[in-house]
Parts: sequence; structure tokens; C-alpha cells
Amino acid sequence: MDKQQLNAFTEQQLTDLMKDMRQPAFRAKQIFRWLHQKQISDFSEMTDQPKSLLEQLEQKFTITKLVPIRRQQSKDGTIKFLFQLADGNCIETVLMRYNYGNTVCVSTQVGCRMGCRFCASTQAGLVRCLTAGEIAAEIYAAAQDIGERISHIVLMGIGEPLDNFDNVMDFLSIISSPMGVNIGMRNISLSTCGIVPMIDKLAEKKLQLTLSISLHAPNDAMRSKMMPVNNAYPVKELISACRRYQKQTGRRISFEYSMVKGVNDSAQTASELAALIRGMGAHVNLIPINPVDGSPYSATDAANVKRFQKQLEQLGVNATIRRRLGSDISAACGQLRREAREDAVK
Ligand code: SAH
Repeated sequence: MDKQQLNAFTEQQLTDLMKDMRQPAFRAKQIFRWLHQKQISDFSEMTDQPKSLLEQLEQKFTITKLVPIRRQQSKDGTIKFLFQLADGNCIETVLMRYNYGNTVCVSTQVGCRMGCRFCASTQAGLVRCLTAGEIAAEIYAAAQDIGERISHIVLMGIGEPLDNFDNVMDFLSIISSPMGVNIGMRNISLSTCGIVPMIDKLAEKKLQLTLSISLHAPNDAMRSKMMPVNNAYPVKELISACRRYQKQTGRRISFEYSMVKGVNDSAQTASELAALIRGMGAHVNLIPINPVDGSPYSATDAANVKRFQKQLEQLGVNATIRRRLGSDISAACGQLRREAREDAVK
């Protein structure tokens, strides 16, 4: 039997585990602190726990620790890590240094099955979901690398977070716990390609995180060509789900819009986009699409991105242009991939 990862347990799950093991409840809190505040990598480091308990735990569980097998630093300070998981799979994680704090962009799956045509992460399909503990370990490893606290998290690396719903919820619970690294929900953004039923499920949790929707096009003809998920959940249904989400959580939504030359960047498209989301108080993040091998798309030039932004603003929609951090090390949006082991040993 495969051992489970103890660091993938939420506080509540650890409490249940201690109960099952006939241990006092306070042990759950102590163990949670060891795992997520002290971030130990070995059971023997839990010096306040009885030896017999540690032995039992060690028989059944492991503790995930991620050590980068490759580390690349961009001219702009962005760092990209390649981590190898216990089963040999690899994922990438990006650390961005903003003046308001250190932000980690985490992967949530090994690969992705959403098939967006402009994104490298999905090209080789999905291998498996990451556990809550593995996602948290990405953050701990990044913090350790720079010796500083991580203040913000974006779930925008490899994978579709809402296609790994339960583990991502457990991860959010672990990472926002005051007994761990205590990263506030308001400093966390979760990005989705638009799986409507899961957006509704997320709304029920009423979390204070920022939900980002990868919209990229204001109509079905355009969006379905770029993103197969649109065939299952077309634009109108997606926007309705966003409105329900806002109503239920009281949180504004952010839309990601990657600009592709000659595809979704005309003045006509800007007015269509504005008409679609006007009045929601939503924010649009514009980003010239990043080059990816095998993608048929190229980026809108800077002047046209600016023009598109101005037009949205004039039509009453708040829009900003996102900086492309880490593009010289292929760490920018859509450039992360799971199959990077060969170049890792170069
Ligand atoms: N699966 C989630 C999380 C990935 S986030 C989602 O789709 O939202 C990564 C963001 O980068 C998404 O908005 C995605 O659409 C965008 N993206 C993917 N490839 C890109 C590329 N080549 N250039 C710019 N943005 C890209």
C-alpha cells in the first residue's frame, strides 16, 4: 500500500486522524504546526510527540519536501523552479517579486486536460492531480530558496485548479491557516478556464479569494476555437455563473484576456467584450499572448494592446495591461510545462 502524505491533511482531517488513532485532540494542532509552520521534513523533528506515535505515523505516512532540480532566474528577478515529485513526475513553480511582496504561482496538476490551444501546459495532457500537500510544498520551497516570506499566491501555474477541486480546497485551508503560513484569502487568486458547475461549487464556499476567469474572447465562435472548454460551457453560461458567483460571495471577478494578433484584438471585439461584462464591476487583465511552441498564435503589438485597453476604459470597463514577467526563462503565462526533465540535466 502506498503511504499517504501527512502534510496533505487539513487541520480538521488531522483532528479526525488523531481521534482514529486514539490520541488527544491537541496533537493534531501540534502536528499541523510542525508540518506547516516549521515545515519539517522528517518525523523525528517533532520533538514534543511521543515516540510510539511518531513510529506509527512513519509507518503509514510520508512528508513531502520539494527540492528544485533546476532553478532559473530572469533578468526581472522572477525565479522558475522545476520540482520532481516523489513519483518522478515534474512540475514548475514561479516566484515573482513585486514591490508589495513575494508572489508564488503554483501548479495544481501534473499537466492539464483542458486543451487551450495557446498554452504549453496542456500539450501533453493530464497525468495526475497534485495533492494539497504538494501544492503547499511548492510555496515552502520557494520561500526557503529566497529566505523570505511569501505574501501572495496565484493558482495560475500548470493545471486547472477547478479540475482538482477537493485537493485545491484542502490546500487553501492549509495555506490560510494561522497555525501554518497564514496567507490571507484576499492575497490568493484562483484562475479557471471556466468550468461552470465548479464555479458554482466554489461560490458556495464563500471564500474571500479573487476568482480570475480566463475569458480571452467575448463570443462562442472565437472562444471555442481557442479553448475547447467553451464547447461544454459557452460564454453566456460562463458569464451567468460569474454573476451568480459575485452575488453569492460579494467578491468582484477578474477576467484574463490574452491578446492574439488578428484573432481577438479588433475594435469590434473590444466593444463586444465591453457589452458582455459592463456593469459587473469586473476587472480585465490584458496580456499579449506569450509564444509557445506548437501554438498557431502570435501576440498583438504593444500599441494595439494599449488601444484595446483605452477602448474598454471608454466603454466603462476597468482594464490594465499585465507585465510579462519571466518571459526570458519561459516562466510567463502559458509557458510552463511538465516535461522538462531532459533540459533540466543540460
Ligand atoms: N487553468 C487555469 C489556470 C492556468 S492560469 C486557467 O485556465 O485559468 C494561466 C493563465 O495564462 C490563464 O489565464 C491562461 O489562459 C493564460 N495563458 C495560457 N497560455 C498563455 C499564453 N501563451 N500567453 C498568455 N497567457 C496564457
